[in-house]
Amino acid sequence: MHCSAGNQRNSAEDIVRYHTTPKPRGNGWKTPGYHYIVEADGRVINIVPVTQPSNGVAGHNSHIINVCYIGGVDTSKPGLPPVDNRTPEQKSALKRLLEGLKQYFPDAEIVGHRDFNPKKACPSFDARKEYAGL
Ligand SMILES: [Zn+2]
Repeated sequence: MHCSAGNQRNSAEDIVRYHTTPKPRGNGWKTPGYHYIVEADGRVINIVPVTQPSNGVAGHNSHIINVCYIGGVDTSKPGLPPVDNRTPEQKSALKRLLEGLKQYFPDAEIVGHRDFNPKKACPSFDARKEYAGL
């Protein structure tokens, strides 16, 4: 689980454009960072097929599915501190998406980006705890 760490009004398209635009304007990645992006209104957009890797966590992408919600930081404050600002629509869409993925990958663990790297705040909530029951 990831957050986009940007404005909640961004679209999935904005995120993909940023990931794939050459540096220095974007990340210059060949593959976007996420398989799924959940926009503020709860719309779920499949970016990369789950049969192919996306680019969410360096060193782990061959065996993970990257899911991202738009938001996750307080854009009104300097330094963009982490905040769990998922909308109710995002919360229910994320749960539905994860429940669906769990049917295909019953042994998958649902964790946050920060569970791979404690220096990261992403996704600004405890995904392991929140989805422990799925
Ligand atoms: Zn992340």
